[in-house]
Amino acid sequence: MDIRLFIIVPCYNEEEVLPITSKMLLNELNDLISKNKISYDSRIMFVNDGSKDQTWEIIKELSRSDEHFIGITQSRNRGHQNAVLAGLMTAKNMCDITISIDADGQDDITAMEKMVDAYHDGCEIVYGVRSSRETDTFFKRFTAQSFYKLLNKMGAEVVYNHADYRLASSRVLKEFANFKEVNLFLRGMFPLVGFKSTSVYYERHERIAGESHYPLSKMLALAFDGITSLSIKPIRIITWMGIIVSLISFIGVIWAIVARCLGSVVAGWSSTLAVMCFLGGVQLICLGVLGEYIGKIYMEVKHRPRYIISEKTWKEEKDD
Ligand code: UDP
Ligand code: MG
Repeated sequence: MDIRLFIIVPCYNEEEVLPITSKMLLNELNDLISKNKISYDSRIMFVNDGSKDQTWEIIKELSRSDEHFIGITQSRNRGHQNAVLAGLMTAKNMCDITISIDADGQDDITAMEKMVDAYHDGCEIVYGVRSSRETDTFFKRFTAQSFYKLLNKMGAEVVYNHADYRLASSRVLKEFANFKEVNLFLRGMFPLVGFKSTSVYYERHERIAGESHYPLSKMLALAFDGITSLSIKPIRIITWMGIIVSLISFIGVIWAIVARCLGSVVAGWSSTLAVMCFLGGVQLICLGVLGEYIGKIYMEVKHRPRYIISEKTWKEEKDD
């Protein structure tokens, strides 16, 4: 079978896990090759995201030890989404299909076979979906579930329990390259590309070693980013909030007039102050949300590069 697979692995400070997961990935790749599901010249591409530890040295060492390992490095740390994008965009002209997967061994590597099978059945995008979160702590599970619910309620359609473990064909990636936004939320953008897609289910494990780079604060930022990148629902909610608050204050005015006519005095300054504070707060929140969108627009119009690759483990012919 001459389908060339590139496995894209973003790595940030992963020196502890890389020696382990690289072996697991290579085993899986060789297994798929021996089953004739992918071609021999398939590759595992590590994307070093400006790590501060020995990650890039390990990747270079791996690439010397086995031809199936290759690597690229970003000029500095840009975050997980940009690292995955850098890998996918580099790979899109070199292979037929890509599978992106985290470096920490949390995602079940054996699900790759099901993904490749789904591609053989005609699917161009295959989403890896976690069927259980039992190994996660209750807190992580709860926050992650709220994350998906919030995203979908806010109009950012993402596949439930799918992170960035997915197969995408080079055809999809070539179309994806036309999505020029700098505010990246890959799992919400891929469904926008379309093409035939499906999901495969797998159990999520615990991190093999090292620490998660996604504490609650980063997860909240990602959720907010996802919503504001994919939907303008928050702005609509503000409009509705404005309409409702106006209606309530209209009723309040009528009440005040009626009370005045009936001779009773409207309650004192404390109620006035309470309403003022409430409205002041609501207005500030609304301004914040609008500001968030303006900030996004500002980042978009600058059109800065989304990734800068400073080094590759292979030599390319000069094209200039
Ligand atoms: N990662 C990255 N750049 C970053 C942070 C993380 O490339 O700035 C990579 C990291 O090496 C891992 C993946 O993104 O392969 C997911 O990160 P992590 O496991 O820390 O997140 P979690 O699984 O806890 O959500
Ligand atoms: Mg992880």
